[in-house]
Amino acid sequence: MIRTDTLIIGGGLAGLSAARALRGRKKVFLAEREARYGGLAATVLKGGFHFDYSGHLLHLRWPETTRLILGALGSNVRRLRRDARVFAHGRWTPFPFQANLAGMPPAVRSECVRGFLAARAGGGAPGDGAEVFEDWSRRVFGAGISRHFMLPYNAKLWQYPLDRLTTEWCAPFVPVPSPAEIIKGAYGRSRPGLGYNAVFHYPQKGGIGALAAALALGTSGTHLGIEVEKVDLRARKARVRHFGEVRFRRLINTAPLDEFAALCADAPAAVRRAAARLRRNTVYVLNLGFREPAPAMHWGYFPGAAFPFYRAGVSGNFSPFLSPAGRSSFYIEIATDGRPLDLVSAERACVKGLLACGMLKDAGRIEERLWLKIPCAYVVYDADRAAALPVLRGWLRERKARSIGRYGGWKYSFMEESVKEGLEAAREIAAGL
Ligand SMILES: Cc1cc2nc3c(=O)[nH]c(=O)nc-3n(C[C@H](O)[C@H](O)[C@H](O)COP(=O)(O)OP(=O)(O)OC[C@H]3O[C@@H](n4cnc5c(N)ncnc54)[C@H](O)[C@@H]3O)c2cc1C
Repeated sequence: MIRTDTLIIGGGLAGLSAARALRGRKKVFLAEREARYGGLAATVLKGGFHFDYSGHLLHLRWPETTRLILGALGSNVRRLRRDARVFAHGRWTPFPFQANLAGMPPAVRSECVRGFLAARAGGGAPGDGAEVFEDWSRRVFGAGISRHFMLPYNAKLWQYPLDRLTTEWCAPFVPVPSPAEIIKGAYGRSRPGLGYNAVFHYPQKGGIGALAAALALGTSGTHLGIEVEKVDLRARKARVRHFGEVRFRRLINTAPLDEFAALCADAPAAVRRAAARLRRNTVYVLNLGFREPAPAMHWGYFPGAAFPFYRAGVSGNFSPFLSPAGRSSFYIEIATDGRPLDLVSAERACVKGLLACGMLKDAGRIEERLWLKIPCAYVVYDADRAAALPVLRGWLRERKARSIGRYGGWKYSFMEESVKEGLEAAREIAAGL
């Protein structure tokens, strides 16, 4: 039997950041079930190509975490200015669509502008989150922008009815330009850099997995290939594969919240019922390595029904060190509601889509491929989530357990926030809370 002060479930960015901050202050036992750190922020090497679990770019916004992340990466980092686009009606326009209507055919552009002005006349201000996405989009952006981008794109991404998807997640992720910006963007003068991801950082070498590798260097008590199989929060003990029983004083969970509740033998029935109300989508990422030329862009959004994917990017443009000389790589993201994807026909449709939008010039140039599956990718925001989370959080509080990160916290979040929550949890624990 092992005794530790803090048991951490998961060696993604949240768990690693907590373990790193607790080093030398508390005894830690971190269990990561995969054979590598990083969780979703990991990189797989295949045929000389570094493939991530889709584009994983660092959009840094807070001083402490920026210092920590850039400090961990040292000289192994690049700063890039976003070149993101939207492909709609057979042509490209810069992202975000709503601020770059000039790239659309004249009839689409005037429909979007008219709809936007009508929505604004009706007082379309950003909402409080509880409104459903379909209503929110029509109220804020109007009928045209909703019809040509917001609704088809988000239906493809979320795989959940947009008249039940609530909007708490929208504020940081969906830019709402001013009326003047929308009008200027419709007639050729958009403001560059709108939205949260205008500038980003990315490792020079090793893919995004280089960040987890760098953070892991500053930890102790961390174990790979070890799954937490069962937890008893009341008795403060867990069963960990290969190690047996681990007794802990404090626990930080970073595994998906519904899966964590299922692990907890002492979770009351109300907690299990609440966990069963949480929904998520699944994302399949097709990575392709190909012979250049590569398009100059970083990534594109695809609202159109002719494309099975909602987003596709040129990972080779994040860093030349991701691919062998003269080669580049794509990532292509397809979401499902959890149903398995037929990978053979999906790959065919992806290649057809890449050729149709001009990102790929010749399918014969593809040399390597790798499908990666993200079973729990985007957590669904709906009335069930709103009802279930207070029950789950109340139970965690009562049992003095922390559940953090994108899936432990069950939210639409990003890498820097996982790092931040890891640091905050460690700070509280070090302070004896
Ligand atoms: C398609 C997609 C694209 C994204 N793009 C970006 C982006 O461009 N920029 C950005 O900042 N963020 C992006 N994100 C979000 C980012 O991936 C996450 O916010 C972040 O990596 C989450 O880190 P985490 O540590 O909270 O969780 P995770 O990375 O999920 O780590 C949890 C860890 O727990 C382990 N685990 C689970 N159960 C157990 C168990 N029982 N025992 C032991 N270990 C267990 C898992 O193996 C995993 O390693 C994207 C997410 C998705 C889905």
